[in-house]
Amino acid sequence: MTATILDGKLVAAQVKDEVRVRTAALAGRGITAGLAVVLVGDDPASAVYVKAKTKDAREVGIAATDHRLPADTTQAALLALVARLGADPSVHGILVQLPLPRGLDADAVIAAIPPHKDVDGLHPDNLGRVAQGRPRFTACTPAGCMRLLAHGGVELVGARAVVLGRSVLVGKPMALLLANADATVTLCHSRTRDLPDLVAAADIVVAAVGRPGMVRGAWIKPGAAVIDVGINRTAEGKLVGDVAYAEAVERAGWITPVPGGVGPMTRACLLENTVRAAELATH
Ligand code: NDP
Repeated sequence: MTATILDGKLVAAQVKDEVRVRTAALAGRGITAGLAVVLVGDDPASAVYVKAKTKDAREVGIAATDHRLPADTTQAALLALVARLGADPSVHGILVQLPLPRGLDADAVIAAIPPHKDVDGLHPDNLGRVAQGRPRFTACTPAGCMRLLAHGGVELVGARAVVLGRSVLVGKPMALLLANADATVTLCHSRTRDLPDLVAAADIVVAAVGRPGMVRGAWIKPGAAVIDVGINRTAEGKLVGDVAYAEAVERAGWITPVPGGVGPMTRACLLENTVRAAELATH
């Protein structure tokens, strides 16, 4: 069996088309959806992500503003900026690029974003709503994974799902979303025993660990859906996922490539959350 490739670029383009329709509808009411992106410090990877996010936003009719603070910014100065953006009616979504430089408390900064502007879906209120099964904004990466599963027509009800990784950013909300969709979920982490056996029983595998090629093809149940969130750079500079793709593609029913799978979906779901924030603020 060779897996159906879940093409994140293709599905992300569909999501962006949907967002364009919604920003145009807002524009018809005289409203421009606004996204404020905050970058603290000069981490080159973060700078690349921020540039990509603002470019994406502008492509779909969202007014993106870029707010840069030096690496030695104080917690108070960062919180003051977040408060200013929180009070600005032209800003519907606020995204603080993580990780923050050492010495800054990311949890406190995220908690200071008004929940109705938290388009990254990381505020405790938004995570709590996902846990309650009544989401407002869902964290972008897990939301993108769910959209890819839907695109592939993967049956979730009653499916056995294994999520590798329990971060607040990816693994935990992913497990909640799958459970909300009636899958039976096992959430794995670095202390999990018998990982290959758990994966082998799974109809759906979501790998969000950050270890190149850790999930071997032989672990995968034939026909399973494999979502590879991992982004790892090899010594040769190549981007690879957490799944040994060449092996897994021969056994899986569906699989996401790296790059071109979950990454573009994460970016697209941020746009979807932003237009939703603008709609909710102005309905
Ligand atoms: P974290 O480092 O926050 O979490 C990694 C998780 O993997 C932890 O829960 C950890 O367990 C678990 N883990 C580590 N080693 C093992 C192991 N040997 N077996 C099982 N579980 C293990 O990472 P993130 O969740 O932020 O990111 C995960 C990956 O996804 C990274 O490669 C990151 O770059 C990528 N990513 C990709 C995105 C995209 O858009 N495609 C977006 C966000 C992240 P424990 O809790 O016990 O430490």
